[in-house]
Amino acid sequence: MADNLMDKIVSLCKRRGFVFQSSEIYGGLANTWDYGPYGVELKNNVKRAWWKSVVYERDDIFGTDAAILMHPKVWEASGHVKSFFDLKSDCKSCKKRFKAADLKDKKKCPECGGELTEARPFNLLFKTHQGPVEEGSLIYLRPETAQGMFANFLNILDSKHPKLPFGLAQIGKAFRNEITAGNFTFRTREFEQMEIEYFVEPSRADKTLEEWIEYRFNWYINLGIKKENLRKRPHTKDELAHYAKACTDIEYKFPFGWSELEGIANRTDFDLRQHAESSGKELKYFDDAKKEKFYPYIIEPSGGVDRSVLAFLVDAYYEEKVKDDLRVVLKLHKDLSPVKVAVLPLLRNRAEIVELAKRIAQDLKKYFITVYDDTGAIGKLYRRQDEVGTLYCVTVDVKSLEDKQVTVRDRDTMLQERVNIDRLREHLEDKLK
Ligand code: ATP
Repeated sequence: MADNLMDKIVSLCKRRGFVFQSSEIYGGLANTWDYGPYGVELKNNVKRAWWKSVVYERDDIFGTDAAILMHPKVWEASGHVKSFFDLKSDCKSCKKRFKAADLKDKKKCPECGGELTEARPFNLLFKTHQGPVEEGSLIYLRPETAQGMFANFLNILDSKHPKLPFGLAQIGKAFRNEITAGNFTFRTREFEQMEIEYFVEPSRADKTLEEWIEYRFNWYINLGIKKENLRKRPHTKDELAHYAKACTDIEYKFPFGWSELEGIANRTDFDLRQHAESSGKELKYFDDAKKEKFYPYIIEPSGGVDRSVLAFLVDAYYEEKVKDDLRVVLKLHKDLSPVKVAVLPLLRNRAEIVELAKRIAQDLKKYFITVYDDTGAIGKLYRRQDEVGTLYCVTVDVKSLEDKQVTVRDRDTMLQERVNIDRLREHLEDKLK
């Protein structure tokens, strides 16, 4: 059933235009995905909800958008050049490559039974060259957005003069040459992160970490993830990254098992110290009241956009029996649904009905993401909207021409009510508040 559910999600995503395989006409690029018309809306809505919660609704966090390409010294100072490794083993017969951690002490190739090489370190950084000459021009595609924020710490101090605690937030692409990508968009080599670097006085770091774990956990719950499918998992000491003092993952119960959506770590003053030493710049914070300089600690809630999108999709997927029919419906939170309203004419060959429906759709488009569809019978149109999570279907019928009313159908309850066309916008606004 579990794998089956993933297959259903992947197939829905392709069929309805959420996610397509990258370069599919060329046979596809393994484990790389493109977001289609509904996918890009859902993904943008997830990013918008995150930004609203961590930037707009707070007064202690500033937004940033740093470049993907950075000075190569950044990655030396951060430790990525030296220690961003996974151990890999290769099969001597079929040449398949495996992450040593996934082999769990297996001595033979899980695919063909062939002999495996010793586990060897494999650096996950994507390398490229800047400028026309390759020699001496090696740079990296960033493996995390975090470093762009540490590197701008001084610029923020100088331009915003913030008092501790304060933070920076950023959403952007990151790249890791993962040994084994997979599980649809869960683990890919190009992905998007939503990260916060929150600077605090060292003595407040432990408490702030706990506060952020709660804040971020509740964000998923408030956007509709079921409580039983979400958990916090503190890292054991031997799991912690070399720079972290403590870390808790927020995990989602995917059909393929509990897996990380976001990690919230206490990175101590490791990053600022490293960059200060490597750049020669003063990266301490000056406390005006105490007249002292020190390195703040950093609490980092670091989540994946693609993983959140996948969790929201899985969590919202329902199959319901309606009379003798099976209804597939995405019960996405109203802020996340790609389309809020669909306007549908009951009879597509009655010119007056079509004209009225188009006029209503055009008017609503100014206020909500609205689509017009007349390419099938009403039952089929409803099913199609249910599958992409459209919140309200507005149906225009023969009676609408006389009584100036339309039927508004609720996605989740399927209940229908008649609403005056004059009041339609207000009616929908109340529902979507
Ligand atoms: P994992 O253990 O799953 O490899 P990680 O602990 O290395 O993840 P972090 O370095 O903490 O991940 O990155 C923060 C977030 O970025 C993760 O919680 C995840 O949501 C996202 N992320 C990391 N690697 C990938 C990837 N290869 N594909 C998609 N999202 C990713």
